[in-house]
Amino acid sequence: MSYSDLQQQPIAMFDMDGTLLDLAFDDFIWNHCLPERHAQVHQCTLEQSQQTLFQFYQQHKHTLSWYSSAYWTAKVGVDVLQLQYEHREKIRARVGCHQLLQQLHAQGYRCWLLTNADRAGLQLKLENVELSPYFELMISSEELGHAKEEVAFWQKLQQLHPFDPAQAVFIDDTVAVLKGAEDFGIRQLFSILQPSSSKAARAATELPYPVLDHLTELFDYLETNQQVTDAKTA
Ligand SMILES: [Mg+2]
Repeated sequence: MSYSDLQQQPIAMFDMDGTLLDLAFDDFIWNHCLPERHAQVHQCTLEQSQQTLFQFYQQHKHTLSWYSSAYWTAKVGVDVLQLQYEHREKIRARVGCHQLLQQLHAQGYRCWLLTNADRAGLQLKLENVELSPYFELMISSEELGHAKEEVAFWQKLQQLHPFDPAQAVFIDDTVAVLKGAEDFGIRQLFSILQPSSSKAARAATELPYPVLDHLTELFDYLETNQQVTDAKTA
C-alpha cells in the first residue's frame, strides 16, 4: 500500500483504561490498595489515609500530574508503580476488546492507542494484555506534555502524526477527554457505558456522547455512517 493510500485509511483512536481495559484494576489500586499501603507507611488509620488521598485525587483530576506514577510516588510516599506490579494479574481487557480490534484491522482501519497513563503505566498494561500487535501508534500523554483533556494534546499529536480529524473515530470513557477531542475537531466520538466491571453501569442518557456497552457495538455506528456516505454519493 502506498503512502497516499495509507493516508486515506480511516483511523480508530482508542483510550486504554476504562475503554479497552477494565478500569476495575485501576479502581482497586487507587481506591483500595493505595489507601491501605499509605496507612501502613505513614502509620495512620485507613480512614485518615482515605481522606488525605481522596482530597489529592480531587485536586489533581484531569491534569498530567494525576496520571504520573512518579508524581504520586513523590506526593504520597508510596511506590504506586510497584503497587500496580504487585497486582498485575488483575489487569484485564474489557469484553469485546480483541474482537473489535481484529475486525477493525480486517476492515482496513488504522488503530492508534492514546492514553493518559504515563509511559511506565502503559508499559505495565502492555506487558499483561496483548494490545501492541493491533496498533500502529501508541502514545502516552506524558510524551506530548499535555493531557488528552487539553486541545493542545491533539494539536501536538497532529503535528507529530498528521491525520484528518474528519476521518477519525475516537473512543474514550472520560467525558472531559471527549470534550477536548471535540473542541479540536474530531466528530465521531463514543463513550463507554461501564468502564469498570466493579462499578455499576452509568446512565446512557446522562452521557453527552453515544455510548458503547459491548465494544463491538461500534460497528453499528460505523456501518450506519458508511451507508449515509454511500447514499450521498449514489
Ligand atoms: Mg479512560
